[in-house]
Amino acid sequence: SAKSSGRNTWKFFSRRLMERVVEGRQIDDGLRRALDERQLMLHYQPKFRLRDGALCGCEALLRWHHAEWGWVEPERIIRSAEASGLIVPLGRWVQQQAVAQAVQWERAGYAHCAIAINVSALEVMQADFAAFLQQQVAAAGLAPQRLQLELTESALMQDLPGAAETLRRLSMSGLSLAIDDFGTGYSSLSYLAELPIDLLKLDRSFVHHIDDAAPRRQTLLHAVLTLAENLGVLTVAEGVETAAEAAFLQDAGCAQGQGFHYSRALDADSFTQRYLATPA
Ligand code: C2E
Ligand code: MG
Ligand code: MG
Ligand code: MG
Repeated sequence: SAKSSGRNTWKFFSRRLMERVVEGRQIDDGLRRALDERQLMLHYQPKFRLRDGALCGCEALLRWHHAEWGWVEPERIIRSAEASGLIVPLGRWVQQQAVAQAVQWERAGYAHCAIAINVSALEVMQADFAAFLQQQVAAAGLAPQRLQLELTESALMQDLPGAAETLRRLSMSGLSLAIDDFGTGYSSLSYLAELPIDLLKLDRSFVHHIDDAAPRRQTLLHAVLTLAENLGVLTVAEGVETAAEAAFLQDAGCAQGQGFHYSRALDADSFTQRYLATPA
């Protein structure tokens, strides 16, 4: 009957929920240890100028290899770290690593490769987020232009006035700011007028098979690129997987591309070898 199937459904959901709680706790315990034991690392995915293929910088992406579980998906790590608050120390670790890497590249003469780091809503909402980051950059003697922050629309919308204040401060000190997964946040666009944004990263959903897409999807892409251009904001297409997508995006006026068509994220040594030590 409907009633008993309803009850089974409830059981099913509650068990799934339970599993997620347990999974979250396990990831969290593991993550605490991983932070202590240095099992975490950042990999770097390059971004290229579409016009001529020049390297524009890279994005730092969190990687965790657990002795038993193998590679843990970043989205699961972030989800569980956000739920527990561990995202704050984790985020600080990411900042430290990225700053150290940027300094190392700067010293080696590869100063043109800025590093973008991903930042969660909870991190930006910390009252000392800007101060902590500025302090690390200053302590390392890094030019703030070498760092970029990627924030999602939904992260900003949690507390727009607060985020705006934080971002204005960071922007004034020379860091650049990107909206990640642009077009997926279901938010009003008005924040674009309020915030000192340097770059829009068009979500993969705009990019996927865009060369072969329905005219209305292509029109939407053109409109977003025009909007960005008129705002004086650079555009990056994320998730570029084919040469045809890259060609279409370039014709449409998108400035930069990132995706498996060019490269996956690489460990720092491989990235250095492939993109910095050997001139393109
Ligand atoms: P994101 O910032 O939008 O990063 C892009 C994701 O798409 C990365 O997944 C990247 O590996 C993947 N990707 C890149 N090119 C392609 C492509 O051509 N096709 C497809 N299908 N995927 C592509 P990843 O590394 O699994 O990270 C997932 C998400 O986890 C990130 O999305 C970001 O939101 C979050 N994340 C990763 N590292 C950090 C971090 O250090 N801090 C925070 N707060 N979030 C992070
Ligand atoms: Mg990102
Ligand atoms: Mg993204
Ligand atoms: Mg994403």
